[in-house]
Amino acid sequence: TETTTTALVTGANKGIGYAIAAGLAARGMTVLLGSRDRTRGEQAATRLRAQLTADEAQAVEPDVRAVVLDVTDPATIEAVAGSLDRLDVLVNNAGISGPAELTPARTPAETMREVFETNVIGVLMVTNALLPLLRRSPAPRIVNVSSGVGSLRHHTDPAHYMSALPPSATYPPSKAALNALTVQYAKELRGDGFLVNAAAPGPCATDLTKGLPLTITRTAADGAAVVIRLATLGPDGPTGGFFDEDGPVPW
Ligand code: NDP
Repeated sequence: TETTTTALVTGANKGIGYAIAAGLAARGMTVLLGSRDRTRGEQAATRLRAQLTADEAQAVEPDVRAVVLDVTDPATIEAVAGSLDRLDVLVNNAGISGPAELTPARTPAETMREVFETNVIGVLMVTNALLPLLRRSPAPRIVNVSSGVGSLRHHTDPAHYMSALPPSATYPPSKAALNALTVQYAKELRGDGFLVNAAAPGPCATDLTKGLPLTITRTAADGAAVVIRLATLGPDGPTGGFFDEDGPVPW
């Protein structure tokens, strides 16, 4: 039986998820590094263990284990849930961007379905499979990695730059739905010691943003910071909120 606080991060083989895994492992947690591809997961776990071991400020022996987890594949989700005997922190980080160039009027239903399958329904499936384990934790935490573009307020505020972004039926609505799901889980789990929040990492230079016509200087580690903070909240922390590095984000 695990005796250390245990965290699972989905889509942790690269990008913000990898940086979240690094931050939680550096805080002494056992980290299950989720990857839909076994090889990419094992390589990332090996790299992360080496990175943490090389860090002289690091006091604890890093405990990072790759787990195969495709958030759209119930078989891998069940296999992970069945293999664990402890889970305290779930970070639903895996996400896809969808085609940014398609306006709603030109979006095939299948394209919207694919993005929602990963960004929203995947979160439902993973969370529900792991809730029985999380319920046994003394301090369960769930962080859903959302995005500022999930904010309806930002898109409808003419003074906010997001109102000028090209319209899309896929990524922004998927993150708005993820925010809504976060609120509903927080409502269901309130009083059971759970803290359930959504995080907006802010723009970070990762594979997800690589093709965008933007200059992004923030790193994956910069984006991971708010997620790590929400994953390590004390008992008086918020639940059912949406936060970026500066504080609450309007829905
Ligand atoms: P990356 O594309 O670098 O990483 C995405 C990760 O998710 C990869 O590990 C990828 O795996 C994984 N993934 C995708 N689909 C699945 C799936 N079906 N099952 C399991 N894992 C999957 O993106 P980021 O690190 O930038 O994004 C991480 C999260 O942060 C996302 O939810 C994104 O929406 C959010 N975000 C990112 C921002 C940014 O500026 N980068 C800003 C706001 C939010 P694989 O390597 O196999 O493809």
